[in-house]
Amino acid sequence: MLIAIISDIHSNLEALQKAVEIIEQKAVDRVICLGDIVGYGANPKQCLELTRKISHHIIMGNHDQAAADVRYTDIFTPNARTAAIWTNKILSDDERVKLLLLPMGLKIEGMTFVHASPHNPYEWNYITKHSEANLNFRYFDTPLCFIGHSHVSKIFCEEGANEDELIRPLSTVGINYFSNKYQLLKSKKYIINVGSVGQPRDKDWRLSFGILDTDNWTYENIRAEYDVKAAAKKIRDAGLPEILATRLLLGK
Ligand code: ZN
Repeated sequence: MLIAIISDIHSNLEALQKAVEIIEQKAVDRVICLGDIVGYGANPKQCLELTRKISHHIIMGNHDQAAADVRYTDIFTPNARTAAIWTNKILSDDERVKLLLLPMGLKIEGMTFVHASPHNPYEWNYITKHSEANLNFRYFDTPLCFIGHSHVSKIFCEEGANEDELIRPLSTVGINYFSNKYQLLKSKKYIINVGSVGQPRDKDWRLSFGILDTDNWTYENIRAEYDVKAAAKKIRDAGLPEILATRLLLGK
């Protein structure tokens, strides 16, 4: 079975449409969204609708929660808060309720899925380093835990190996995407950050998501170009903070 895992779309319709195009091309069996469908970008309604259409399961992200109920913006940066309040006004009551009803995490198909971290997902802690990953391995009992939140694609192995120490990835170039495929080991436990569809922050502006092949136990990180200039222009036209447009072009 092929499972596509998408995260952190952030109301970027151009990036999401390209991700969906690749997902359809690859004929995946399941799509799981790790949250942050909205916030930052200019197309929250359209992204919510398309994500709901293609996903078999969706988890709540901190930006979904804050856009649905602005009391949760207290801990946000000023730009994130501005975007969340703007999004809140655009969404209907029904859309806000749908976001607030999303689960904080899921254990399905023998795997764990959360937005931020398996240890107390409500705290929205980041896992960006091995020391942070190491604190989290004991809080899930499946071989794999998929996360988003940092917008940086990365693989953490329980025994301290990072992706450079894993079996060298097989890099391929598709018609409209680039991929790094990793052979996972059945005997090891991993936390895998699939990166962000709509606002990558690893200095690579191309959209990022993951595809797990449960038969061959391989994980593929997909990167693809999309119409980033159109997404940035929409942010400017909506009157959202300029930095939210320029950061898309820089991938940070
Ligand atoms: Zn996010």
